[in-house]
Order: sequence, then C-alpha cells, then structure tokens
Amino acid sequence: MAYNDLITVYALGNDEIDESKCKAIVEEDLRRLGAKINRLHIHKSWKYFPHVDSETMAEGFYDKLEDLQSVNNTYYGGEIMSFSSIEQCIAYSKYLVNKFF
Ligand SMILES: Cc1cc2nc3c(=O)[nH]c(=O)nc-3n(C[C@H](O)[C@H](O)[C@H](O)COP(=O)(O)OP(=O)(O)OC[C@H]3O[C@@H](n4cnc5c(N)ncnc54)[C@H](O)[C@@H]3O)c2cc1C
Repeated sequence: MAYNDLITVYALGNDEIDESKCKAIVEEDLRRLGAKINRLHIHKSWKYFPHVDSETMAEGFYDKLEDLQSVNNTYYGGEIMSFSSIEQCIAYSKYLVNKFF
C-alpha cells in the first residue's frame, strides 16, 4: 500500500464483538489485503445513534418531540429528529422549514 500509508477504518460492533475483538478482526482483514501494520494511531469507540431506546420510542418520544417544535420559538433539527444519515437529516430539515417558515 505504498500510495497511502495511513488507513482509516470504521467498523460496527455489537454485544459479541467488543473493542479488542473488533480490532483483531480489522487487523486480520488488513493483513489479508496486504497491509503491513506498523502502528495504530488511534482507536475510538462510540454508541451508534445513541439518542432513544426502543422502549422510549414506543412510548411516543417522537410525537412528544414533534409537539415541541416551535414552542418558545425553538426548533429541533439534526440526526436526533430523523436518523443517522445525511440524507435523512436534509429531508427532515426541509420538512421543518416548509412547515414553519
Ligand atoms: C463515522 C461516521 C460515519 C458516517 N458515515 C455516514 C455516511 O457515509 N453517510 C451518511 O449519510 N451519514 C453518515 N454518518 C452520519 C452523519 O454524519 C450524521 O447523521 C450527521 O452528520 C448528523 O448531522 P447533525 O447535524 O445532527 O450533527 P453533526 O453533523 O455532528 O453537526 C453538529 C455540529 O454541531 C457542532 N457543535 C456541537 N456542540 C456544539 C456547541 N456546544 N456549540 C456549537 N457547535 C456545536 C459540532 O461541532 C458539529 O459541527 C456517519 C457518522 C459517523 C459518526
């Protein structure tokens, strides 16, 4: 991999694949692709879409949140209102602007 000495990898873990297992799988995959790993610069973990759990959502979290839009001239946007993707964020932002402005 002479054309790029720095490789960035994003991996989705789960309850069975913890940080160290995830790291081992990625390293093994990189070696199979022919990469020589000299140094790991940074390894960071975070929760995916950590905003609302299933139970809270089923209890009408989003209906309550929608009812708060425009109260006290305050508006809520970003991925918490839609989903963790740029397309969903844009779609919701357009909906918000069309509805209130
Ligand atoms: C690793 C990763 C890969 C992803 N890949 C994709 C992909 O391939 N395709 C896709 O569609 N989506 C992808 N996403 C999801 C997408 O990036 C997010 O859903 C989207 O960026 C969320 O937009 P947002 O406006 O809610 O938050 P952000 O884009 O995070 O914007 C929030 C902004 O607010 C700023 N901010 C935070 N606190 C303050 C403060 N107190 N004062 C002032 N500013 C503040 C932050 O610096 C940031 O610029 C990815 C996300 C991650 C983490």
